[in-house]
Amino acid sequence: MPNFSIGVDLGGTNLRIAAVSGEGQLLEKITLGTKVALGRDHVINEMCAAIQQLSGKYKSSGKFLGAGIGVPGIIDMASGMLRKSANLPGWEEYPVRAEIERRLGAPVVLENDANVAALGEQWLGAARGVANMAVVTLGTGIGGGIVLGGKIWHGMNGMAGEFGHVTIEPEGQLCGCGNRGCSEQYASASSIMRMAREAIGSGRAPELAQAASSDAEFGAKSIYNLALQGDENARRIFRSFGRYLGILLAGLINVLNLDMFVIGGGVCSAWDAFAPNMFEELRERSMVYAATAPDEPLKISFLGEEGASAQTESRGARKTIITRALLGSDAGLYGAARVAAPER
Ligand SMILES: [Zn+2]
Repeated sequence: MPNFSIGVDLGGTNLRIAAVSGEGQLLEKITLGTKVALGRDHVINEMCAAIQQLSGKYKSSGKFLGAGIGVPGIIDMASGMLRKSANLPGWEEYPVRAEIERRLGAPVVLENDANVAALGEQWLGAARGVANMAVVTLGTGIGGGIVLGGKIWHGMNGMAGEFGHVTIEPEGQLCGCGNRGCSEQYASASSIMRMAREAIGSGRAPELAQAASSDAEFGAKSIYNLALQGDENARRIFRSFGRYLGILLAGLINVLNLDMFVIGGGVCSAWDAFAPNMFEELRERSMVYAATAPDEPLKISFLGEEGASAQTESRGARKTIITRALLGSDAGLYGAARVAAPER
């Protein structure tokens, strides 16, 4: 049994803890709910108990190298404290890393959740073997992480990769960050809902209005289903979504010229509804993309598990690959385990 580390995905609703071998094999995973309402100390107690349970179980057969914890929010890497977290109220100004290290008696790394998701995809997912890449996660907002030379790029103090707050409409929608026209107001799951509400409000989208009133779980997925059925209003929403995502990516490609951009998050299941417009926009707006685009970007956009390595092997021609994430919500768990036990 090999050495192992523990990755933790500490979200606003879920707390997941996994023991992962140094080679990237998942040994065991524990899923708990994050009882944020019961307070920080309660959550830390539960997390540490689960980490100890797993480390105790596997340490007879391999060395426990430490724990990595992916946290939603802005982290001060030097102090191991949360600077700001909308989902974990009461965690700021508390020595999270030091306290967990004290309890575990093992090294702990605190890392932003989008950053560990990026590292997870780079280590074991769509970008395996690709040294320079970024992940753009399309969820309620847009998360971002940049990996350069196999390591997370933190920027000056851990705030790099805020792709969701890049302006793509100067006088656009007001964003929670205080800016107007941020990309996450136009290319996230919530933006799909906003566009649907606007279409319904205009009175010219009867199918959407009907679905919204009859479907108790009306969401981005229902809108995608309508798009599949050919509803023009639903299709327009995804075209607009793809266009805005393309505008964001065009800027990122021009600035970073990375080998691969991995698109993750639940909205990716609607890939075929938005990707054509995304690629169209990329070619028009990014000269770097136009010069490095694969011949058939849509076809190589999702090659599955074997395809990931095939893609990187065929990278002799140095193309900019835009592809879908492979690991889903486990990317963060693997990436968190990886930061605790970097390449040896
Ligand atoms: Zn913003």
